[in-house]
Amino acid sequence: MSKIIEGMEGFFGRGAFESKIFADNTCCFIGAFGNVGVVKTNDGLILFDIALRLFGPRVFQQVRKFSDKPVKYIIYSHGHFDHCLGYAPFIEEIKQKGWEMPQVIAHENCIRRFEKYSMLSDHQIWTYKQQFASVGVTMTSTESISGALDPTIIIRGNDTYKFNLGGYKFEIYHDKGETDDSIWMYFLEKKVLFTGDLMVSSYPNIGSPFRVQRYAKDWALAMDKMMGKNAEYLLPGHGSLFEGKKDVQELLQITADALNFVHDEVVKRLNQGKWFEQIYEEMLAIYPDKFKDHPFLQPKYGDYRFAINDVYRLYHGWYDTGNPTSLFPAKSDEIARELLKIGSSEDYINRAKILYDGGKLQLALHVIDVVINGSTDASDLLIDAYKLKVKILKHQAAEEESFIAKNILKTGVSQLKDKTKELKKSLK
Ligand SMILES: [Zn+2]
Repeated sequence: MSKIIEGMEGFFGRGAFESKIFADNTCCFIGAFGNVGVVKTNDGLILFDIALRLFGPRVFQQVRKFSDKPVKYIIYSHGHFDHCLGYAPFIEEIKQKGWEMPQVIAHENCIRRFEKYSMLSDHQIWTYKQQFASVGVTMTSTESISGALDPTIIIRGNDTYKFNLGGYKFEIYHDKGETDDSIWMYFLEKKVLFTGDLMVSSYPNIGSPFRVQRYAKDWALAMDKMMGKNAEYLLPGHGSLFEGKKDVQELLQITADALNFVHDEVVKRLNQGKWFEQIYEEMLAIYPDKFKDHPFLQPKYGDYRFAINDVYRLYHGWYDTGNPTSLFPAKSDEIARELLKIGSSEDYINRAKILYDGGKLQLALHVIDVVINGSTDASDLLIDAYKLKVKILKHQAAEEESFIAKNILKTGVSQLKDKTKELKKSLK
């Protein structure tokens, strides 16, 4: 297992593919990327999410250890690849046994999402390769998001969908949060919440650097609605099963509080006429310890810093500096070439080293980029600049908790190493 996911097993569920039977033997939690929730009734099974394609066979084994009943419903909590694609072994089984095909429940926006992914499939794969670089989930076109099951029951707008199976009652609700197509399920008799990625057992995945807009305020409202159920169990999209009213309510409450906090504080500063940089710095300074230290809000995947960006972006356009210089900016390598006419590459490298040694890693990156962006020819100095940048990025990656941030930094390291090799060859 790659080093980067050590300590992340709780998020990825890759370790033992743990499964856990709960709620009087009616439900089974299957830890995967993402988790699968199984409900067993006399009339068949409900699968809430189906994990990623790669994990389908292992999920199938776990489900069949729990029950041999036919699958009646597959529910897509949202249209991300880690929740929708592991269905193949189940469909194969249905065909072999001559069972009826299951109903597939999704929100109408999930269908739009699948259409968007097919339009942007190459781009999606390009982003996955960076965001998931360390996990070894190599996204070839066959493993991409395309090919999810077609929904047969489509939830429109904010409609609630209620159904019965095997004498039990289930309710499905739509709320926006990590995505605009999220649905969550409540199993009334056993008081179980199935949340999808509206809950990931860590800081909400809001403002992910490669991803589109998320919805902090609506997300907090979803937490409130879930709290209203007073559930005994909560099966999250990632991380372990939560058991007991107290933990479930605390998890929902602290997540709602954290989302309301980032939303309301950014909005307050927008109304004070502040630009992004100032808002961001102030938001870092005021982040309360009660969130920073809370075990349910650790930045394992999402990160408070990303969330600030997300809320800002929801309400403000791309002109975020207030400095007209940035309205139609020159290319960064042209700017760097001009700076190298004023100070030499050696000057910049030396200054970057001083900053690095003084612990100012981010500033050191900006300074070293002048050499990297501004150099027109291969040289030993340029190789030095690449090496220093690799060192700084590695240092930052080691200190980062967020999986996404770590991966972006490590992708930078491997790209720079490749470039360094090329440069060395060209200098021989
Ligand atoms: Zn997920």
